[in-house]
Amino acid sequence: MNRENNSRAQMRVGYGWDSHEFKSGVPLKIGGVELPHPKGLGGHSDGDVLLHAITDAMLGAVAAPDIGTLFSPSDPAWKGADSAVFIEEALGRVRAAGYAIRNVDSTLILAQPKITDYAEQIREQIAELLGVAVSAISVKAKTPEGMGTQNAAIAHAIVLVEKSRQSRPRRRKRSKSSP
Ligand SMILES: [Zn+2]
Repeated sequence: MNRENNSRAQMRVGYGWDSHEFKSGVPLKIGGVELPHPKGLGGHSDGDVLLHAITDAMLGAVAAPDIGTLFSPSDPAWKGADSAVFIEEALGRVRAAGYAIRNVDSTLILAQPKITDYAEQIREQIAELLGVAVSAISVKAKTPEGMGTQNAAIAHAIVLVEKSRQSRPRRRKRSKSSP
């Protein structure tokens, strides 16, 4: 069995999943975009189910602690928080591990609202948050046929990261202080 240090892998993949229940009286935010809808998503922070799934995928790619560990849902600091904060933290950890985001694929599963009209805007927003091209971000949407989850929004996300050029292991220079 090859036990070579996996932190040297050129590419790694991460996967994330999340779900939130629809709730009256809160704005609906998906992928960092506020969508016109009578209900928003309750729960952790601003309830942005897609950003949470992507955050967990990024954290998973570098085997960092998951979103619930880093930002406990019971911590009042994150009540109503902008989920872009979680993305920023995850991006920082990906970069600190020496990787860059290559692409993100995601699927939203929700009965309403129809995402088609906003998919482009959501992709642009996520691309901006991650500092990548819009072509690196995919957002697909499906309705929950036969799942009985009409009052929930579910998101799956997968992210590919690649060793960034800048942080390739430097060749050790010989010096007198470190023979
Ligand atoms: Zn969440």
